[in-house]
Amino acid sequence: MNNYKINTKCVQAGYTPGNGEPRQIPIIQSTTFKYATSEDMGKLFDLEANGYFYSRLQNPTNDYVAAKLAELEGGTAAMLTSSGQAANFFALFNICEAGSHIVSSSSIYGGTFNLISVTMAKMGIDVTFVSPDCTEEELNAAFKENTRAVFGETIANPALTVLDIEKFAKAAHAHGVPLIVDNTFPTPVNCRPIEWGADIVTHSTTKYMDGHGAAVGGAIIDSGKFDWMAHADKFPGLCTPDESYHGITYAEKFGKEGAFITKATSQLMRDLGCIQSPQSAFILNLGLESLHVRMPRHVENGLAVAEFLEKQPQVNYVSYPGLKSSSYYDIAKKYMPNGGCGVVSFEIKGGREAAEKFMKELKLAAIETHVADARTCCLNPATSTHRQMSEEQLIAAGIPAGLIRISCGLEDKEDLIADLAQALRAI
Ligand SMILES: *Cc1c(COP(=O)(O)O)cnc(C)c1O
Repeated sequence: MNNYKINTKCVQAGYTPGNGEPRQIPIIQSTTFKYATSEDMGKLFDLEANGYFYSRLQNPTNDYVAAKLAELEGGTAAMLTSSGQAANFFALFNICEAGSHIVSSSSIYGGTFNLISVTMAKMGIDVTFVSPDCTEEELNAAFKENTRAVFGETIANPALTVLDIEKFAKAAHAHGVPLIVDNTFPTPVNCRPIEWGADIVTHSTTKYMDGHGAAVGGAIIDSGKFDWMAHADKFPGLCTPDESYHGITYAEKFGKEGAFITKATSQLMRDLGCIQSPQSAFILNLGLESLHVRMPRHVENGLAVAEFLEKQPQVNYVSYPGLKSSSYYDIAKKYMPNGGCGVVSFEIKGGREAAEKFMKELKLAAIETHVADARTCCLNPATSTHRQMSEEQLIAAGIPAGLIRISCGLEDKEDLIADLAQALRAI
């Protein structure tokens, strides 16, 4: 499907049924797969043949959907994970181990911040956080001899900072390591980080890709561009024989295009088992079929709500990269000419208390730990998703106590604005 436009790929990429086969992706609800001889199965275990043997590692339904995601992002291989958290953990842990170091944007999702700074620290993996707005000098200074990856979010959740992908890719490559970009918020409909130099792209498919608040999931897409062998000393897991797989060297056997995803599947999925269920993969694909139709509406509603909020006296400031007043306006236009997403953050005057009162008055926008749903929802991060962060960490991540994140759904924008207006009047 490589020659088709992204709108067509959203609908049809990944699965092409043969004569008389199901039109919709079949849900292969089976833990295991049958073989005629042990020899046949042995070839699968040795990675000598393609096929399935156990759904903890791989399932055909997932692979159809992953193939669509690879096409949407312009990558060579992809895999689905049980959640966005699992996707980011696998993407990093596939090339990091005890003694490794990560350079990460400080403006990232709270769950990922926790994963990297607390849980991965316990595994002996160190991190240096840098502002997404840092200078090239500051960025280069964050690297160490043991740095193995650079991480950032295209549009950060919930701070809505925009990553200068080219700047981060350039620094990563100058230090011989890949750039991993979490592209959850814009989705490949609005931004394709690989086209700007990213090497690995991750997603929480729970968000816009599913788009209906129906299934938790994640995905990793490999650009197939990073030359692991050229930096073999840094990536022994990919560039030296894997004794748990009969001495296979992934980067040799599967090349730049396949090594990363094959290793993540055959080692990390095998040992940790964070696979998406085929039922969820099916639901995800239903979401993908309309992603290109939904994203422009999310953007339209997000911009309308941001422009409305910006004019209200009860509001301190509004963060939305599509606003002309945003310091990210130019960079957002560069990476996302059609707009980014439907998530808007704003600080209400009066801090935590005013935020709570305002949110209680909303009728259409529901209070939810969620974003990127067809239905509008909102959240006060300081009292929910980011409550594990200290005051200093909150400020570094751009999240004051009165910050409200509103995820504009697919409703009529006039109804959304009227709902916000009545709630503002009530406080
Ligand atoms: C939600 C989210 C995650 C985590 O994804 P889950 O599917 O909830 O595990 C990671 N990154 C970003 C940008 C997110 O918005």
